[in-house]
Amino acid sequence: MSDFLLGEQRNMLTAAKQFIEFVNKGPSPFHVVDECKNLLRAQGFKELRERDSWKVEKNQKYFVTRNQSTIIAFAVGGEFKPGNGFTMLGAHTDSPCLKVKPKSGKIRHGYHQVGVQLYGGGIWNTWFDRDLTVAGRVLVKEGDKVRHRLVNVKRPILRIPHLAIHLNRKVNDHFGPNLESELLPIIASTVESASSAPGSSKHSPALLDAICSDMGVEKSQLLDFELCLADTQPASIGGALEEFIFAPRLDNLVNAYCGLLGLIESCAVDSLNSDPNIRMALLFDNEEVGSTSAQGAQSSLTEWILRRLSTGGSRTAYEEAIPKSFLVSADQVHACHPNYADKHEDNHKVGLHKGPAIKFNANQRYATTAISASILRVIAEKASVPIQDIVVKNDSPCGSTIGPIISAKLGLRTVDMGSPQLSMHSIREMCCTSSISQSIALFKTYYNTFPAVDESFIVE
Ligand SMILES: [Zn+2]
Repeated sequence: MSDFLLGEQRNMLTAAKQFIEFVNKGPSPFHVVDECKNLLRAQGFKELRERDSWKVEKNQKYFVTRNQSTIIAFAVGGEFKPGNGFTMLGAHTDSPCLKVKPKSGKIRHGYHQVGVQLYGGGIWNTWFDRDLTVAGRVLVKEGDKVRHRLVNVKRPILRIPHLAIHLNRKVNDHFGPNLESELLPIIASTVESASSAPGSSKHSPALLDAICSDMGVEKSQLLDFELCLADTQPASIGGALEEFIFAPRLDNLVNAYCGLLGLIESCAVDSLNSDPNIRMALLFDNEEVGSTSAQGAQSSLTEWILRRLSTGGSRTAYEEAIPKSFLVSADQVHACHPNYADKHEDNHKVGLHKGPAIKFNANQRYATTAISASILRVIAEKASVPIQDIVVKNDSPCGSTIGPIISAKLGLRTVDMGSPQLSMHSIREMCCTSSISQSIALFKTYYNTFPAVDESFIVE
């Protein structure tokens, strides 16, 4: 192996390890957005609030959040003026998980248990026999104020035990739990913990104690919370050749992270000074449940922000900006599974280490067109990143993304794409280390070159 290749491999591994740190810091969408803010602030991005009036300047970098679970970061080109385009990349901050119910406390047969709701389309049997914890946000009373705080108990405080094989001989034939009665985590025994019912509290005293001791607050200060269950096992590099990433939430933290890094790194070189566009990364919550929420991709957020940034020019500056703009809708794709290869279309078996894939669907489950795909292909060539193509079999269901939603709402050219992975929507997923460095390189080149690439397309 040449020195060059060794160097390349080291970069790939370094990038993958940095990504893993990001995943470990993001057990809930609130934590993901918080970590994005840390990364952005360290690079000179300034926080704007929707409720304020904005004075946005050329060559400056900003971010805005909604609901603490959606974040939009942008950098204003040195040549930008209202009516110019937006070079956008969209991904999502949420992943399928179990969420604590509003009244979660239950006592059954000597155990304190925690009632949970299903969030998104998870593979729920993968949540059995894992060392689980909780992470999310808590509204804390402090005198006459209420403060929004994050919590992440770093101990395995919860577990959903499998029923022993001896009592369920058919478990290996087909394992689909009852989603109400059998997917109920245990948090304590009534022998060790207070055996009384949750009583005046809506939750198990053991759960409240774990949250309060982690946050250093009293139970009386807890006004309300939104908690996701999460696996306590950290993400890791895997495979005999250290070529895989074994981690939770790869869908869609791979693209949230690489999109943000692509934006940050594109501004580190001085191309921003001559950019006529605004470069923007949009990371939305609630994609896994259809995107219909104030902070989801279906909301007015994107249009409002683009309109704000288009004010000050002609009366139709926003309408002029849209046809000059572009969205890369980045979300993970299914790599060909060697044990189920017949699930994948013959000509479109996507492989690990072979680059991100462009997603096509004639029924518009993905927003890709020949034009938007070609724009990405030209950019990928500049970035020396290989590109694959994917389409599902006609007799198979097809997922969707925020791509068609935003594309249809704004009338925006969009390409749907993403990196290949296995075990999608399992509590622990799997992708390749090269996804991280390749995606960052592709997104950085996209931000740097889109206006020039768009100019080179003659579409009349
Ligand atoms: Zn996704």
